[in-house]
Amino acid sequence: MLKPGSTIGILGGGQLGRMLATAAAELGFRCHVYCPDGESPAFDVAAARTVAAYENQSALSAFAGSVDVVTYEFENVPAATADFLGEQVDVLPGPRALSVSQDRLSEKELMQSLGIPVAPFAAVEDLAGLEAALEALGRPSILKTRRFGYDGKGQVAIRAGDDAAAAFEAIAGKPAVLEGFVTFAREVSALVVRGRSGETAVYDIVENVHRNHILATSTVPAQLSEATADAARAIAAKVADALGYVGLLAVEMFVVEEADGERLIVNEIAPRVHNSGHWTQDGCLVSQFENHIRAIAGWPLGSTERHSDAVMTNLIGAEADDWAALAAEPGARLHLYGKSESRAGRKMGHVNRFLPRRR
Ligand code: AMP
Repeated sequence: MLKPGSTIGILGGGQLGRMLATAAAELGFRCHVYCPDGESPAFDVAAARTVAAYENQSALSAFAGSVDVVTYEFENVPAATADFLGEQVDVLPGPRALSVSQDRLSEKELMQSLGIPVAPFAAVEDLAGLEAALEALGRPSILKTRRFGYDGKGQVAIRAGDDAAAAFEAIAGKPAVLEGFVTFAREVSALVVRGRSGETAVYDIVENVHRNHILATSTVPAQLSEATADAARAIAAKVADALGYVGLLAVEMFVVEEADGERLIVNEIAPRVHNSGHWTQDGCLVSQFENHIRAIAGWPLGSTERHSDAVMTNLIGAEADDWAALAAEPGARLHLYGKSESRAGRKMGHVNRFLPRRR
């Protein structure tokens, strides 16, 4: 167990890093944030900072020497960076979680090997491969780059009559997967935390609504049968176990309604704290951020119990300009990320709203 006063290194300086550092401070830890961008919101709440490229080995060595464990707040940490640090200090979650979640194809193959349903898919390397995949999966379908996609970037829908070559060009001809279109009733996520000795705890399943491919709201409890909610929790725990995961893992799923009941299909996983878990800051005894810190520090996991019904609403771009009204709203808790520049589509903060727990 890392003692209070130890230093946690965080790769990435966005709002997730900022909220991790705040949670770590509440347990008596110090945080050292490493990020190439000197304007990072996490720097404001960290004990130490490094502004350097992820390829800068002397900066990475100095960072590794100054911390007791390293974690990250985004999944596109270069594998070489994690490996280099991993020779000097524990990097958690480990390399398998990073490599699987950085590649949509490996992600889907892992799910299949675990017997977890995913959308029908085919690997696409070139235009001929895309045309064959379209034959097999039909239209509409969605072409997604294997790597570096987020918030709808690196993906394009292919509908009846759409030109396959234009779609392939839209993702710059990168290695991709074609996915069959899932007609889902809702999107949910399961957040699981797994400790160093393999124990797991799962938060209540969250229902997510996206607008312009960006998460707009997360609501708990999700509208699901108890059995489906239990199945979603079991899926998340199974993935975490299979990866030998340490920390907080998010598993995003589609819920399909069929005549004989609900079915879950895993869309993707994120090896980090997740936007759909921000409600846990105020809706649970222990938040996703604190539980991630507890897990990587080898501490006992905290309770994931939810004490209220909650809706988390992201404040995107100018929506955060309403901060004064939001701060005055009864039953709401405002969280702002300290970003100096508001841009369209940029996550500036969120607000958690609560109602007494009904179920
Ligand atoms: P992703 O980048 O994979 O998280 O996808 C972003 C969003 O696109 C998801 O949250 C869904 O709303 C939608 N989406 C992704 N994949 C599919 C699919 N196979 N079928 C239907 N909608 C999808």
